Amino acid sequence: MLDIHAHLDWKDFTDVSGVLERMRAAGVRGVIAAGINPESNRKVLDLAASHPTVYAALGLYPDEAQVMSDAEVDAEFRFIEAQAVAGKIVALSEVGLDFSEERSIIDVARQEAVFGRFLSLGAVTGLPSIVHTRKAEARVLEMIEGLVAEGRKATVVLHCFCGKKALVKKAMELGCYFSVPAIIARSEQFQALVSMVSSRQLLLESDAPFLGLDKRVPNEPSCVAGTLAVVAGIKGVTLGEMRRMIEMNEQAVLGMAMGRYQS
Ligand SMILES: [Zn+2]
Repeated sequence: MLDIHAHLDWKDFTDVSGVLERMRAAGVRGVIAAGINPESNRKVLDLAASHPTVYAALGLYPDEAQVMSDAEVDAEFRFIEAQAVAGKIVALSEVGLDFSEERSIIDVARQEAVFGRFLSLGAVTGLPSIVHTRKAEARVLEMIEGLVAEGRKATVVLHCFCGKKALVKKAMELGCYFSVPAIIARSEQFQALVSMVSSRQLLLESDAPFLGLDKRVPNEPSCVAGTLAVVAGIKGVTLGEMRRMIEMNEQAVLGMAMGRYQS
């Protein structure tokens, strides 16, 4: 079982080895570390190179992409593409759309152009995209739908998806996966999402150091073990059964990328 999405390069993590030891002790065998900008992407690659249980994912967070120049975005995209082709990453992340800021700040065209490029790279390389979307859920799904309509295959994991029920349904029909955060323990919205979504489309994540149950301490990948118990409870299956289903889903999403991965 994996933590599908974490920010291990964040400054909160001064002792990554300790974090990873606690993760292993909790029964979580690995974590996908996501980069958000050029600096963070390189830190993620370094972390993956020095820790065998850390898998690298690279991307451009929508807010970051819109403050970069076209040339900077292009250079970083080409860097990520080269890592993808070389088998140095297991996913494209963090990518997506975020329209939650003030209207005057949001650069919709830039965000969509960058996200579209990543979706396309995912289709070409077979790498999954682990997608952030806030106040842009409908548009994200439209873009995925567009790709599918062209006959291209997109493997998409929606991380911390907060879209309305109709959008959850549409995402399920498009074959998207949903990665569920620890806050499900007290979030009715995520509990409703898990009861609605097929067990075949669920994954688990920490989004560490964010979205923890205790705001006073940074969240860690080990929290995924607790999330598994909550999800198993909602689905009415044993921990072992739920773990097996989640691991099957991980294999479906990441099996190919993991097979050729060399950090
Ligand atoms: Zn994130």
